[in-house]
Amino acid sequence: MTRLTGRGVAPGIAVGRAVVAVRDASQVRYRLASSGVDRERHRLRAARDRTRLELEEISARVSRTAGPAQAAIFAAQLLMIDDPLLTRRADELIRTDRINADWALERAIAELHELFAREGDAWLRERVGDLADVGGRLRRNLRPGRDPLVDLVLELEPPLVLVADELPPSTAAQLDWDRVKGLVCDVGGPTHHTVILVRSLGVPAVVGLGGGTDLILPGQTVALDGSTGEVAVEPTEEALERWRLRAEIAAAGMRALGALRHRPAVTVDGVRLRLEANLEIADEVGRVLDAGAEGIGLYRSEFLLDAAAPEAVTEDAQCETYRTLLAAMAPLPVTIRTFDAGEERWHLTPRAGSHRDRFGLRGIRPALQHDVRFRQQIRALFRAADAGTLRVLLPFVTSAEELQQLRALIDEIRREMRTEITVPIGAMIEVPAAALTVDQLAKHADFLSVGTNDLIQYTLAVDRTDERLMGHYQPAAPAVLRLLRGVAITGRRAAVDLSVCGEMASDPLLVGLLVGLGFRSFSLTPAAIPVVKRSLMAIDTHQASEVARRTLRAASADDVHALLEPMAAAMHKAATHSGGGQASP
Ligand code: PEP
Ligand code: MG
Repeated sequence: MTRLTGRGVAPGIAVGRAVVAVRDASQVRYRLASSGVDRERHRLRAARDRTRLELEEISARVSRTAGPAQAAIFAAQLLMIDDPLLTRRADELIRTDRINADWALERAIAELHELFAREGDAWLRERVGDLADVGGRLRRNLRPGRDPLVDLVLELEPPLVLVADELPPSTAAQLDWDRVKGLVCDVGGPTHHTVILVRSLGVPAVVGLGGGTDLILPGQTVALDGSTGEVAVEPTEEALERWRLRAEIAAAGMRALGALRHRPAVTVDGVRLRLEANLEIADEVGRVLDAGAEGIGLYRSEFLLDAAAPEAVTEDAQCETYRTLLAAMAPLPVTIRTFDAGEERWHLTPRAGSHRDRFGLRGIRPALQHDVRFRQQIRALFRAADAGTLRVLLPFVTSAEELQQLRALIDEIRREMRTEITVPIGAMIEVPAAALTVDQLAKHADFLSVGTNDLIQYTLAVDRTDERLMGHYQPAAPAVLRLLRGVAITGRRAAVDLSVCGEMASDPLLVGLLVGLGFRSFSLTPAAIPVVKRSLMAIDTHQASEVARRTLRAASADDVHALLEPMAAAMHKAATHSGGGQASP
C-alpha cells in the first residue's frame, strides 16, 4: 500500500479503481479485463483505417492545389501509419500488457519519438513533427468527435476514482459522476471551477498531489479522504475495511445534519441569517432543494458553455434551461449570473490557466464590446423571467461607470423586446476596484454579491488555480479581511442587499468570521449548507464582531486563525452534541 497526501478540497470518502487521464484529459489510461482486448484492438484498427482515408484525401487535395512535391509530406505520413513500430506495436501492447488502445498508442508513439530523437540521422529527427501529427490524428480517431474521458467512464465498471493531472471544467461538466466516486488531481486549488463543481455534486476530491498521475497506475484501487487529503493506493483488505467504516460514519454524520434542513439559520443571540446555494449544473437543482437552501444565490451559467459548443447554447436553449430552473425553485429566488467566461471558456485560447483568462476579455467585458452573446443571454433571461423569481447578476464589474453602461444596454434590449418585465440587476464584488467603490456601485445595483474567490486572487496577486501558490492563497489574510469589512460597512450604509457567494462562505469557520465582519446573507455549495448552518447556530454575533475587530489588526493569516480558535471550539462543541461530527481516521 502507498500513502500519498494532497489537499482535501471536497469532503467525503471514496474508494474505486483508478482511471488515469493526462494532458487536460485528452489521454486516458486504464487496464483491460481479458474480455476487453478484442474491442480495443478493433478500435485501433478502425482508427488506423479512418486516419488512412483522411490522409489520402488530404494528400490528393494538396497535390491538386500545391503540387505533388508538397503532397509528398502526407505520403510519408501514410507510410508512418503502417510502420511496425507504431500501430502494430500499439496492437502488441494491447494484447501483452492488457491496456486500452489510447494508452497503447501513447506508449508506442513515445517509444518511436525517443528512437527518432536518439538517431543521429537529421532526416529522421525532422520526422518528429510528422510523428506528432500522425499520432494526434490516430488518437483523435480512436473516439472521433467525442471526449475520450467522458466516453471511457461510461464503458468502465464503477466505482471509479479519476486520477488526472488537470481536469478542465468542460470535461468535468460532462462526466458521469455517479460512476466516478472521487477525484484526485495533480494540480488545482479549492476555488478551481472543476473543484467547485465536484464539491457541489458531493464528490470527494484531493488536489495538489504532485505526481499522482505517475505514482498511481490505472486499475489500482484508490481510497481518498476529501477532508484530510489522504490518498491510499492499493490498500490492504484490512485498511480497505477501515476506509469503508469511515465512509459510513461520514455518511451518518451528514444524515444526522439533515434534521437542520427546514430550520432557519439563527445565531445564539437570535440574528437570522440567510443561506442560499451556488449551482453550476441546472439539472442538479434537486441538491439545492434537498439542502434546504432559501434560493439560488449564484447560478454559474457559463457551465452551459462547457457542456456544449458555445454556438449550440442558443437563445431558445438557454430560455428553456432558465425556465426549468426558475420553475423548480419557485417561489424562491434564482440569481442567474451572466456568462463569466474567460477566453478559454469561449474556446479562444488553447489552454486553461492562460493569464488572459483572468485579465483578458472575461466576465462582462465582451458585452461592453458589443458581443452578441450577452444580448442573446439577456433576451433568454427576460423570456424566462415569468417562470419564477429571477435576479440577474453581472460578473467581474470593476466600476460604477461600467455598471451604468451595462444597465443601459439591458434597458435597450428590453425596449427592443417590448417587454414590461423588470428583473433586479446585481453586480459581483470580486475585484478590489469594486470592493473599494461599493458606495458608487450601490447606486446602480439592486443587489451586490461578494465573490471572495476572485477578490482574494486579485487582492493578494495569487492565481487561485496555481497549486504551487496555495500557501499564499489565504482567505484569512488581514488585507482581505480589511477589504471585506469595508464592503460590509459601506453596503450597510447604502442599505443595499448584500451577500457573499465565494467559497469562504462554504467554510464553516470562516463564515463565522464573515458574520463578525457584518455579512448576514450567504450563498454556498449545497453540500456545505447543513454544516455551515450548524456552525452559525453556535455563534453569538456580538462575540463574532469582537473577534472580527481583532482580526483586522492581526499581522498574518496565522494570527487570524489563532484568534478564531474560541469560535472554532464553540462550533466543534455544537457539532459533537448534535451527533453530526466528521469521521476521524
Ligand atoms: C468568486 O469569484 O468568488 C465567485 C463566486 O465566482 P467564481 O468562483 O465563479 O469566479
Ligand atoms: Mg469570480
